[in-house]
Amino acid sequence: MKIDVLTIFPEMFKDFFSLSLMGKAIEKGLIEAKAVDIRSFSKDKHKKVDDKPFGGGTGMVIKAEPVFAAIRNCGALKKNACYKNRYKKPYVIYMSPQGRPLDNGVVKELSKFERLIILCGHYEGIDERAMSFVDDEISIGDYVLTGGEIPAMVLIDAVSRMIKGVVKEEESVKNDSFYNGLLDYPHYTRPAVFKNMKAPEVLLSGNHKKIQEWRLKQSYERTKKRRPDLLKAIKNEE
Ligand code: SAM
Repeated sequence: MKIDVLTIFPEMFKDFFSLSLMGKAIEKGLIEAKAVDIRSFSKDKHKKVDDKPFGGGTGMVIKAEPVFAAIRNCGALKKNACYKNRYKKPYVIYMSPQGRPLDNGVVKELSKFERLIILCGHYEGIDERAMSFVDDEISIGDYVLTGGEIPAMVLIDAVSRMIKGVVKEEESVKNDSFYNGLLDYPHYTRPAVFKNMKAPEVLLSGNHKKIQEWRLKQSYERTKKRRPDLLKAIKNEE
């Protein structure tokens, strides 16, 4: 997968793209990612990309022209381009508190695209006319952050985990919360007794069938207690 992040703070992605899971995925060539500075598409001599809002009011608005130029530069707006399937077309996402909520279903769907172009807003947001060049708006929750960079990192991290080979053991992604509609089961490691708290006996038994049954039961009970809405969603699917 190829990912371009369009931002006015490309430096924020330096560590994100070089450390931990993302760093390894990029090093292995499973993901190609870069942060593109929207300012470099500004025609202003001071590389200014924002202006006062029409109609007055507080804050500044990112202009449509440099955003359009940055998206076009990524090859997303080719006229008459014909793609064999929708996942081959570069998919332009604007991170926005007004977008559709990010969940594991959205993450799985986005992981099928070969190319994502992720647009980060700042200040009051981006001139609405730039939305004509955007395929999707995605929110990471009902609260407002200063900029789209952290939301973009959240989305990229979650999507990357779905790409084959990024997480070494594929099974571990499948056992994670939400993948199959349930929350993950509790985990324990050495020592077997910590401050008088014992790890569950069954996990030390070596009986794999019993361990699997225990884990499934824990997953189910946790979900029922903490997120009954997820169980309802499974029932509705059946
Ligand atoms: N005035 C906008 C509104 O109320 O909808 C909020 C602008 S916010 C201060 C600046 C930028 O941060 C947005 O353009 C968006 O890119 C990003 N952002 C803030 N909160 C977000 C969220 N919950 N999910 C995704 N992006 C968010």
